[in-house]
Amino acid sequence: MVDARQAAYLQALGVDVYVPRSAPPLQAEPPLHAEAVVESTPSPDVAANLDWNELRAAVAACQRCELHLTRTQTVFGVGNPQAHWMFIGEAPGAEEDKQGEPFVGRAGQLLTSMIRALGLRREDVFIANVLKCRPPDNRDPKASEVASCRDFLERQVALVNPKLVIAVGRIAAQSLLATETPIAKLRGKVHSFGAQAWPVVVTYHPAYLLRSPGEKRKSWQDLLHARQLFSRLEQESASGGRS
Ligand code: SF4
Repeated sequence: MVDARQAAYLQALGVDVYVPRSAPPLQAEPPLHAEAVVESTPSPDVAANLDWNELRAAVAACQRCELHLTRTQTVFGVGNPQAHWMFIGEAPGAEEDKQGEPFVGRAGQLLTSMIRALGLRREDVFIANVLKCRPPDNRDPKASEVASCRDFLERQVALVNPKLVIAVGRIAAQSLLATETPIAKLRGKVHSFGAQAWPVVVTYHPAYLLRSPGEKRKSWQDLLHARQLFSRLEQESASGGRS
């Protein structure tokens, strides 16, 4: 059920408050960018034992890939470091590079609306990106860059230890899950990421939703799926599962 506050945020999202009894079959979606990326390569895995402050410092000083040459600053992530929900996007854009915070600007506002539609506040969750530095001209991340940055992300997820990870957008999903499967086929399922097999669900990037507002209903279906899964995970946790 959707309460009045969530209905208001859904309105901001541009989603009519109507939930079909069964979701329509998933359609093949066009890629977010023309160029499909991402293959999995081993990460250097030197971040595995760092604490939060050490990890933040290591990211800020990182020169592992060429993106350090063009960044204004690294974008580590924002939010509650003990969050139960973690949202992971692709990489900083121009505004994020300038402000040092992920998901700012119009796409960030839409992500905040999506978070609120879940009944959460932006500061309740943790928001990060697969890459901590901006690819020039907002080009897609290279597989080598994703591999270089991967242990930072894995350590970040390990330290937050969320109950649920939301992969935001095609590139984040494909990078996290080390697959080239189209996003339409990744949605609506439960995947896992990292050493502790954190549960992952996939949804569209808000920048894509801004370009394709007709897809917002599917995004709402993803959020419903995530919320139901989260409730189930909490019940399992209360009855002795992973905390
Ligand atoms: S993108 Fe990641 S690996 Fe590349 S320089 Fe930035 S922090 Fe280092």
